[in-house]
Amino acid sequence: MKNSEKTLQIDILAFGAHPDDVELGCGGSLFKLKKLGYRTGIVDLTEGELGSRGTVAERYKEAAESAEILEVDERTNLKIPDGQILNNQENRKKIIRLIRKHQPVLIIAPYPEDRHPDHGNSSRLITEAWFFSGVKKVLPEIPPHRPFRVLYYMAKYEFEPSFVMDITGEFDTKFRALQAYKSQFYNPEWPEEQTFISSRWFMDSVEFRARHFGWMAGVKYGEPFWIREPLALDDPVPIFSRKIL
Ligand SMILES: [Zn+2]
Repeated sequence: MKNSEKTLQIDILAFGAHPDDVELGCGGSLFKLKKLGYRTGIVDLTEGELGSRGTVAERYKEAAESAEILEVDERTNLKIPDGQILNNQENRKKIIRLIRKHQPVLIIAPYPEDRHPDHGNSSRLITEAWFFSGVKKVLPEIPPHRPFRVLYYMAKYEFEPSFVMDITGEFDTKFRALQAYKSQFYNPEWPEEQTFISSRWFMDSVEFRARHFGWMAGVKYGEPFWIREPLALDDPVPIFSRKIL
């Protein structure tokens, strides 16, 4: 493989409907994976232009700053219109091209059901693109590649997790990445009106939730994930030989 091709490879690609979705749902895990030596990437499907606060230009700046904090190797924006994330051929092809370009082992997407329709719609769009990415007659000019799994992270609606990533050592960095979104989250100095996500208690809930799912799994801070097909284990002993809090 040529060097220029090699650098395109991203091991874990995390998708969000809006800039900041990935940070909220799996920012700690993504940072942990980076520390473990994997190449990581974030794909924002929209520019978040329907957001009540901040401008598109501000969102780009914040997203870039957050990506730096999480040390992601690549952040891309697919510029699908905010509020209109349609599961159509055009949008699937945008994602398929990206998956085939980066050849990730795993991709991460929002859970299929959520309060915000964009999150559920993104989930279905990404899941279908993931499947067709492995079908060689779709975009036959680019070799097929299907990542092994789609891991789903939590947005507003909760689910029974298939597993929890221990982010005890990464929670502070996740929190700092969220604080990079000065226009979006709790920031008493921001001049615009208060919103659901800019309230103090929303930011508090980021910590409560990480503590809650961490507590369920026996660690201090955790991020919950759901997978569609169960895990097959060869040897459960090393997996479960771990003291819980
Ligand atoms: Zn969102």
